[in-house]
Amino acid sequence: MSIGVLALQGSFNEHLAALRRIGVKGVEIRKPEQLQHVIALIIPGGESTTMAKLAECHNLFPALRDFVKTGKPVWGTCAGLIFLANKAVGQKSGGQDLVGGLDCTVHRNFFGSQLQSFETELSVPELVAKEGGPATFRCVFIRAPAILKAGPDVEVLADYPVPLEKLICSKSVDESQEEKLRSEEKVIIAVKQGNLLATAFHPELTADTRWHSFFLKMVGEAGDQKLNCISTTEGDLSDHQTPNDLPIFQ
Ligand code: GLN
Repeated sequence: MSIGVLALQGSFNEHLAALRRIGVKGVEIRKPEQLQHVIALIIPGGESTTMAKLAECHNLFPALRDFVKTGKPVWGTCAGLIFLANKAVGQKSGGQDLVGGLDCTVHRNFFGSQLQSFETELSVPELVAKEGGPATFRCVFIRAPAILKAGPDVEVLADYPVPLEKLICSKSVDESQEEKLRSEEKVIIAVKQGNLLATAFHPELTADTRWHSFFLKMVGEAGDQKLNCISTTEGDLSDHQTPNDLPIFQ
């Protein structure tokens, strides 16, 4: 069995390459029936409205919702996080379909436009406890969402102190919520809820594979099916080399 990566749009290739670097075979998912052959799924970053339109076109939503409900591990990064949230605000007019399952309200473009993209080192104690390595992780935020509200079953893995000038006051965020954001100056950017993992940033764009290994452990804990492993010397060598881990935004 392999790990599926939703391959409609966005950074699916980068996720597949990161999986290869830790010796796991990922497969591209574009059709509902392909979900039957994977034990876990990654929904990559990209543009959630476009991805939702494509998912709609391929009739993927019912199969994706079933996949989440069966308890198989699913990790959403950035647009993938938006997909998994039960509620999204700041959507384009007409809204967009969500897969749901994650008891969160997410603001689709909380950190602003492409120009406000940034990267920062954040500490994620839960990740370091499981994966070891440096105390911080380089997080790349691209037109990134943030979680404004999380339900009681949602474990917060990381939050981010929001500089006030970055705070976007969306009309869709009600006043009490806005007040809360102002006083706390923190938003949630990584969570886990049972079989679901979600990050507002892009671990697949860095050379650090600890989030992918972390997800793999969730997959291991979820069932006893054998994962399709590949030799790290198999295939195209360029994929297995550590990518040039330069800052994307400075
Ligand atoms: N904010 C974007 C959206 O609405 C997500 C950006 C990303 O995935 N890098 O889809």
